[in-house]
Parts: sequence; structure tokens; C-alpha cells
Amino acid sequence: MPESLCTGSQSEFEYPTEPPPRRHGPLGYLDYRSYKPWLRDEFTFRCVYCLWREAWEPDGPHAFGVDHVQPQPTGAEVDSSYDSLVYACNTCNSTRRDVPPPMEFREETLRPHLRVLTDGTIEARTIAGQELLELCRLNRPLLIAARHRMLTLIRVLQQSQNPEALRLLRELLGFPPDLPNLAVLRPPDGNARPEGIEQSYFSRRIRGELPEFY
Ligand SMILES: [Zn+2]
Repeated sequence: MPESLCTGSQSEFEYPTEPPPRRHGPLGYLDYRSYKPWLRDEFTFRCVYCLWREAWEPDGPHAFGVDHVQPQPTGAEVDSSYDSLVYACNTCNSTRRDVPPPMEFREETLRPHLRVLTDGTIEARTIAGQELLELCRLNRPLLIAARHRMLTLIRVLQQSQNPEALRLLRELLGFPPDLPNLAVLRPPDGNARPEGIEQSYFSRRIRGELPEFY
């Protein structure tokens, strides 16, 4: 088996070790949904809550959207600044509704709070983790089964000698083909972190720096 296929146990469902240090800083979009290509790149094309990936959805990025972390008060001006937004699958987004997560996403990762086990369940490691788990219903039976099925499929493919297995693994664990080219986007009020463009996955792919799997 090629060494590159050894992605480790449950690495597909490991919460990031570091809180997302925002690489991008687009400013001034009136429609918060315009931030989506930036957030896709920022959050590596997966849901910040359940870690489900675009590549695993029949509708790809259409099954994901822009999520306000804090509740949006009715009547008050909505905070749709880039740093107040995360990338989430539509199910987590709608399940959580307007209840804020019990942790501060700008300063910490979910890794100390949640851990995905080999059977597909998510273990809460803190009280805040348990609250988020219930808020997004991350252990609903259908989702546990889907997670377990994905983990099993990846393990089977990694052990397979069939040449099709590698192609499938690239589809499941590789970067999406439609990486957003952020360099051509023009946020109305500019970009507070223009240096992030060079670190976008699109730019890294052009430079040949993109790993085969993530
Ligand atoms: Zn999700």
C-alpha cells in the first residue's frame, strides 16, 4: 500500500488542532452569502461542527452554507463581518438555529471538546462539548451510521489492491476540483488580510503544494 494512503485512524474526523487563524479578511459584502467562497477555503471544505466534507455530499458545496456563530437579533443590525461567520453543512446550520455555540469559535478549536470514535459516535470531552453535541444533534442515529459507513469505506479502500480504490480515495479525501480562485474576487471594501490569497488552496494547487489527501 502506498505510504500516502496511510492517513491514520479517524484522521478524516479529527477536529483541527488549532483554532482557525483567519487567513482571509474580505470586507463589505452586503449579502453575507457572498463570503461563501472565502469560508469554503478558510474551513477546508468541511462543516466546522460535524466535519462532513463537501466531497461526501451529492450536491457538494450546495449542501453547505454560511453560518452566523452568534444569534442575529431581530430588528438590530446583523453582524455579518467575515470573522463572525463559519462554514457549516445545511443540516448543522438549521439544527443549531439561532442558539449560540457554548464556546468561542474565534479563539478555540473543538478538539478539546469533541472526539469521533471508530464506531462513528462523537464523544463529548467537556460540558461545552456535550452542549454543542446536543445543539447540533451530532449523535443522531442516521449521522452516526453515515459516519461509521464512511470510516469503514475509507479503511476498506486503503487496504484494497484494486486500482479503482486509489481513485475513489482521491475523490473522498482529496481537495475538491472547484477550488475557489479568491484572487479574482473583489470584496466591496477590500481585503484586510490580502496575504492570505497566497495561502489559499487554489494558489497552493497552482504551485504544486497541495497534498493528495487531507
Ligand atoms: Zn455539519
